[in-house]
Amino acid sequence: MEEKLQELKTRLGEIADFNAAANVLEWDQMTYMPPGGTAARAEQLATLRKTAHTLFVSDEIGRLLEELQAEVADLDYASDEASLIRATARDYERERKIPGWLVAEMAKATALAHEAWVQARAESDYPHFQPHLEKIVDLNIQIAEALGYKDRIYDALLDLFEPEMKTAQVAQVFDELKAKLVPLVRAIAEKKDAVDDAILFRDYDEEKQWAFGLDVLRQMGFDFERGRQDKSAHPFTTSFSPNDVRLTTRVYRNQFRTAIFGSIHEGGHALYEQGLSPTLERTPLCDGASMGIHESQSRLWENLVGRSRGFWTFYFPHLEELFPQQLDGVDLETFYKAINKVEPSMIRVEADEVTYNLHIFLRFEIENDILEGKVKLSDLPEAWNAKMKDYLGIVPANDAEGVLQDIHWSMGTIGYFPTYALGTLLSVQFYNQALTEIPEIPAQIERGEFAPLRTWLQERIHVHGKKFTPAELVKRVTGSELSARPFVEYVRAKYGDIYGL
Ligand code: ZN
Repeated sequence: MEEKLQELKTRLGEIADFNAAANVLEWDQMTYMPPGGTAARAEQLATLRKTAHTLFVSDEIGRLLEELQAEVADLDYASDEASLIRATARDYERERKIPGWLVAEMAKATALAHEAWVQARAESDYPHFQPHLEKIVDLNIQIAEALGYKDRIYDALLDLFEPEMKTAQVAQVFDELKAKLVPLVRAIAEKKDAVDDAILFRDYDEEKQWAFGLDVLRQMGFDFERGRQDKSAHPFTTSFSPNDVRLTTRVYRNQFRTAIFGSIHEGGHALYEQGLSPTLERTPLCDGASMGIHESQSRLWENLVGRSRGFWTFYFPHLEELFPQQLDGVDLETFYKAINKVEPSMIRVEADEVTYNLHIFLRFEIENDILEGKVKLSDLPEAWNAKMKDYLGIVPANDAEGVLQDIHWSMGTIGYFPTYALGTLLSVQFYNQALTEIPEIPAQIERGEFAPLRTWLQERIHVHGKKFTPAELVKRVTGSELSARPFVEYVRAKYGDIYGL
């Protein structure tokens, strides 16, 4: 068995190298590449992704997996070896169904679409992006058809990001959440004057904001010897190895929340990547369990930690030193309420915890409508705006703050958005479990001590990489299943307190 396992690992390692190289090129495109590099980058990415795909779906890998499956049958389910064979076989079965030319087409289409999206968003020019979106939707439909599905076409794509999750299950959880959130948003709206966040729109020096974000990341435990932070149009995290993890944020002079919560959020993703077991490196297991699980980590740090009173008990005095004029006469309580102001807004990534999921419902429904041909892409801005009015009671003034705001479709990803809401729900389930096991966590956060929480997350979640399906992992860590209830209880308690409901 050792010999075969070694051969499989060697092959998988080479494939991982191709993918990591592609990740480097993508990271560069989003951060430093001049616009002139677009066409060449599209070809380079297409070649790397296609090569990785071709190497992976080879008959040799199939043969090795088949032979090894029998041999690892007696090993512990959670062992590196058994998990590697199990998870890789699942990926293999899926990837075999997708022809290589489709992978290359998608890589090329998305590299071109990214530049078009950046320009379209800058100029609020949806028609400039529409042909790219048409191409991407068409390719996604071809991928979904190649993968196959029983119920909804969306199932095939959702499974790429959230293994074994079904559209119907998402719709059910969302319906439950919707029923609880809409009345809460309404009750808060009636008391909207209870919180004023004007102080966050004062003039905050960009350099100081940047430095503050780096400080917080360091304190959270992000290792700058094994990663770095840069700026990009849309914050994201990627990694080339657990020892080289890249995150980005964006800094606006007059919007204090953007940079810091971008850093904390991406920092949560980055800690996951840095926390993966070194034994999994250069294998398909060296990754998050799913996008939803990944998002649970970013949302946990961003919201449960970063938007808590305890976190700012520690950090507000530092902030006052950095921005004495901007925060003159502002106390901790006023600041805490300001960063937690609930207000229907246009931009998902800037949304408060209560209205955030409403943005996800909208995208989930629109993506389903697009794939099922219920909305024409030429009508997408109108469809978007109509749903914004339905869910949030506001209508974007232009497409830049409407249909063009998110990067995901330009990246070719359809079926990804639900994972943001699923991750948000899971963040509360995981955090509650951490508090059960380590009741001192809130007191530690007030002292700026994040290591016990970070270590708990690493030992219970990060270190396992992609060994378990999301459902298996949630069960192992919390003993229960995905549920909307803990999140609903959390927002009711927190915002009931802030708004005096
Ligand atoms: Zn995220």
